Amino acid sequence: MTVLEDISQDCALPIGDDWVRTETIDTIRLPYDGSPVAKVARGNAELVERAVNAARGAAKELENWTNFQRAELLDRIASLLRRDHASFASAISLETGKPIAEARIEVDRSLQTLLLSSIVARELHGEVVPIDGAPIGAGRMAMTVRQPVGVIGIITPFNVPLNLALHKLGPALAGGNAVVHKPAEQTPLSALKLAAIVREAGAPSGTYNVVTGPGSVVGRALVECPDVDMITFTGSVATGRTIRASAGLKKVTLELGGNSAVIIEPDADLDSAVARIVQGGYGFSGQICISVQRVYVHESVADEFSRKLVTAVGNLRVGHPANDTTQIASLISEEAAQRVESWTSAAASAGAKVLLGGNRTNSTIQPGVLADVPEDSTFMQSELFGPLVGVNRYSGLDEAIERVNGTPYGLQAGIYTQHFEHAFRAARKLRVGGVLINDVPTFRADNMPYGGTKSSGLGREGPRYAVEEMTEPKLICWRTT
Ligand code: NAD
Repeated sequence: MTVLEDISQDCALPIGDDWVRTETIDTIRLPYDGSPVAKVARGNAELVERAVNAARGAAKELENWTNFQRAELLDRIASLLRRDHASFASAISLETGKPIAEARIEVDRSLQTLLLSSIVARELHGEVVPIDGAPIGAGRMAMTVRQPVGVIGIITPFNVPLNLALHKLGPALAGGNAVVHKPAEQTPLSALKLAAIVREAGAPSGTYNVVTGPGSVVGRALVECPDVDMITFTGSVATGRTIRASAGLKKVTLELGGNSAVIIEPDADLDSAVARIVQGGYGFSGQICISVQRVYVHESVADEFSRKLVTAVGNLRVGHPANDTTQIASLISEEAAQRVESWTSAAASAGAKVLLGGNRTNSTIQPGVLADVPEDSTFMQSELFGPLVGVNRYSGLDEAIERVNGTPYGLQAGIYTQHFEHAFRAARKLRVGGVLINDVPTFRADNMPYGGTKSSGLGREGPRYAVEEMTEPKLICWRTT
């Protein structure tokens, strides 16, 4: 059963040089059927303090490493991840319940994130400051260099446990920082495996420490620890608010939730849109922050679009996550599935038409499509995180844009049209972090600036952008006359 046997640390946490045993052991279960997959040590507030001390020591060493050394370390971690690709994919699938084919893609993406972080490390630089542009700067020259912030606390959600951790660890190391990581309670396995390869790659002791356990205890201790210089968080809006309120003067970046929408104009290529919405709305059962949750389709093509979408969604293969051909497995827990079921039936009671799916078996929800969903329903306004999409019709583009903008979230949005002016009107007016033209909002390349407006977050990720947050410019100014 123990997927962690291959790092054989026997229920212990990687802190400093040690694997630290704890009194409490948690069983990690496959969300699909509740079967046990591993036993994991549960951390606590004291271990957070110990991990932060270890990271402080590593940060002192790492700040003296050259860009080249940091890049080489990231490259070595990448080659070890490539070597262990299959076992990482298996750990991800077992802890999240994600179909194994999607877990393999997550490992591929994680490799990209590491390689992009290594490039960022090689190229990290400050700038020449044109100091004599101010009268008082005459006879002086100046430049900035990028300094590490020091010790970074990273807190991650359950849904993309490896690649989202690497979107924080990669740029943190590129910038010369050390890290304490609090993974989601449900999904600590990939972080523990990652710690083993970071050590094997030759990182200084204490560079990457993992403390598992509940957010309200371990996450909170990390956020409140005075010796942590920055918190980078990915997760729900509610937790993001709590973290922001208790982080004091620490730097904080927040990658939060969404309920992404796509607009289908009358001239859209419907087959292409349907194919991408099936990937973007139902991948990992919709448990992705940029999943397609809402579709606004022009009334002239709405019926044809819905017919095509229902046929395509009806063909999705639902099953055990370990099967190579499974496309839809379970949600992260039975409670999560019950919530999705209740939001769906509330939307139906308020007048939405259930065109397909929505039924629950334990923690699995049958992929589905709803039409004419009341805009003020929880289904449309909040973050569903389930394998259902709401399809509503509109008559004019400005109305569609307004409805896309009419929720508290603003991560990404998409528009399908051949009309250049309409595409760019939407791109200008949509209040989101990224607009995808002729694609779904679920598109993310690991090098692009990624993040949200409104309640969807603060700051941007993508190694080049994250490293800016994780380093500080230091001015060096000298007199020339
Ligand atoms: P969550 O907010 O419940 O938990 C995220 C992490 O925060 C976990 O590690 C949890 O233990 C920790 N936590 C909980 N309470 C805490 C506290 N008081 N102090 C410190 N840490 C605490 O989120 P989740 O259910 O694991 O993940 C789903 C959410 O993540 C969705 O809202 C999704 O949209 C969001 N998400 C956003 C992005 C993005 O890039 N914007 C990516 C993936 C997921």
